[in-house]
Parts: sequence; C-alpha cells; structure tokens
Amino acid sequence: MEITDVICHVLLLPDLHAEDTDGSQDDIVVEIHTDEGIIGIGESDTNPWGARAIIESPTIHTMALGLKDMLIGQDPLQVEELWERMYVGSMHYGRRGLGINAIGALDMALWDIKGKALGVPCWQLLGDEQQPFIKPYASLQPRGKDLDSYSKSLAEWAVRAKEYGFPAAKLEVTLSGPYAHHGLDEPAESVPEVVRVCREAVGPDFVLMVDVQYTWSNARDCLRTLKRLEEFDLFFIETPLQMDDLDGIAFLHDNLNIRIAYGEWQTTRFEFIDLMDRGKIDVAQPDVGRVGGLTEAKRVCDLAADRDRLIVPHCWKSGIGIAASVHMAITAPNCAYVEYLPAELCHSALRRELVEEDLCMENGVIPLPTQPGLGVELNRDTVERLRSPV
Ligand SMILES: [Mg+2]
Repeated sequence: MEITDVICHVLLLPDLHAEDTDGSQDDIVVEIHTDEGIIGIGESDTNPWGARAIIESPTIHTMALGLKDMLIGQDPLQVEELWERMYVGSMHYGRRGLGINAIGALDMALWDIKGKALGVPCWQLLGDEQQPFIKPYASLQPRGKDLDSYSKSLAEWAVRAKEYGFPAAKLEVTLSGPYAHHGLDEPAESVPEVVRVCREAVGPDFVLMVDVQYTWSNARDCLRTLKRLEEFDLFFIETPLQMDDLDGIAFLHDNLNIRIAYGEWQTTRFEFIDLMDRGKIDVAQPDVGRVGGLTEAKRVCDLAADRDRLIVPHCWKSGIGIAASVHMAITAPNCAYVEYLPAELCHSALRRELVEEDLCMENGVIPLPTQPGLGVELNRDTVERLRSPV
C-alpha cells in the first residue's frame, strides 16, 4: 500500500467566542489517502492554520523536509518508522510544539489506516487489553460573571454530571489570570471557596478533580492556597503553576497532599520525562494529538508506568481525539480516567457532529471499541459546513 495524498481541513465554529477558554471551537483534521482506497483520519488540538502550514510546507533542504512530502509514496503500515522519519526530517523547525502537534494528527491517521487495513481496532495494534472498559470524567466549565454565580453554576453542573452517570468530574476553577474563562476576574485565593460549594453539592463519594489552568507564577503563593484544598479529597489538582516551572512543580509535589497533574500542552516523551523526573508530577496528561500521536502517547504511558505514575489523558476536541484517547487507554493499565465531553451536553458542533458512530458512555463507562481503526468516520456535511473561510 502507498500513501497518495494528505488533505488538511481547518474547521471553525461560525459563532466563535474569543474571550472563552474553550478549544472546542476550532480543529485541524487530516485525511491520509492510499492507493487501496483506505482513508485514515486524525486531529490535533493546536493552532489549526499553523499545523496546516507545517504539514503542507514544501521541502526546503535535508534538515527541513515537508511533512506531507515525507509521507507521499510511503507504506502507511510502517507507522513507527514514519513517525521517526517525520520527527528527524522536521527537527530543524519542528522538534517540539506545533511541529509535533502536526505530526500527532498525521500519526493518528496512520494508525487508523493500519487498523482498517488489518481489520482490527487500533488498541489491538498498540498493545494488550489491560482494561475491559474506560472510565470517563466530565470536564465542567460553566459561565459566570462573579464568584457567587460561577460557584453555583459549577456546583449545579457537577450534580448533573453525577446524575448523568459519570464516575468523576473535573471543576475548572480559573478565577483570574490570562486563561480565566469568559472574563471572570476574582482573587485566586478564592479557589477553595468554589471547591467547597461543589464538594458539598455532590457529597463525599463522588470523585472530583480541580483544574486551575496555570493561575500562579509563584510556587509559595500557590502552595498557600492549595493547602486549603487538602480537606476536599480531590483526585488531583491540574496545572497550578506555569508549565515550564519544573522546580516549582516539584516543590508543590513535596509540600502538598494532593496529586499534581500536568501534560496537556507538553509535546514528545522527552518533555514528559522532564515533567516526571524533575517536576515530580503524579499524573501525566498527554493529549494524543498534541503529544505527537498514538505512537508517542503510548511511549508516554509506558514511561509513566515505569515510574508508578498515573495517566489521565487530556481531550477537548471532537470524537476523533476521544476515540484515540480510548484506544490508548485500553492498553495502559495505569490510565485511571479519560477526559470525556459528552456530545449531548456540549454546545460545539465540532464535538456533536464531526464524526459518525461516536464512542459513547454506557452505564458510566466507555466500552471496548470493536470497529477497525479508530472506529469513527468523518461526517462530510459537517466538514463542508464548518470549513474555515481562511
Ligand atoms: Mg486543563
């Protein structure tokens, strides 16, 4: 089999809210075509125009090959070899960040092709079945103008997630700073007050996580507030300090009695090794597309298992990324939960309508996928309707 074409789609919701902290409003979707008619699909959670440019850029010289150029004419079933080829060939300009995000979408599509060609679900190609089903957690980020309305709304959503059958939910409690949702501006020291309202609403037996989205720039100030969260029995606290402050993150680990979770923005296993060994994180959160695709995400899972760390993948896009997360999780015994936004509870048409045959939650779990490849297909009408005009 030979790769004959690579097509990129930049997709965008028509009613974009730039003041929201919400990455479900845009997408880069790739299709890899083959001479046998099999098409693989993948996506990545990144700047979609940037990723498209990196994929479509022509070759410049031996250290700066174009990603699409490197794939055309190759055997799509040699997925790991193609990952290495793309990584080495784009090292000069790629290596981390956007370059790896772009490789991630392509790698996802290659695994989809391989599964379809061999007639097996992707997880069977990645490893043994380590879990018969996957536990999803709900990410909750309502709108609220102030502390009181946001707390009440978040608590209501948490109760709804519990009633809906989720075994766990994550509270987005970013009250200020550059990533505060929808213009919210309240003191960061108030985070424990919001968590208290939510814990009291759901009761003691429901698993809660908290995401504060890089609120603090100083580890000691951060610790002072986070210590007040210890009484709420949280599963983890996500990204309290900026992602490059590895020594600060290790300081939190050493002084706080709550698991620390990072990894949604990291690319390649190398950044996760730094996060785990120098940053001492307890929970690694690879986003399958961003980290470099299923090939690299699986390596991160294995490296985390070697170090007795948990995996809880980040996923905030469409049914394509959710499928990739679930296939990865099936083969990772250290994967505790996957992030899962139910289509019916989401306003984003990308989440609701981009794929057909979405993987769904049943009785509080996502069952073992059985369809070949990723097991999801693009809804072509949605792709045409949401195609970005630029
Ligand atoms: Mg997050």
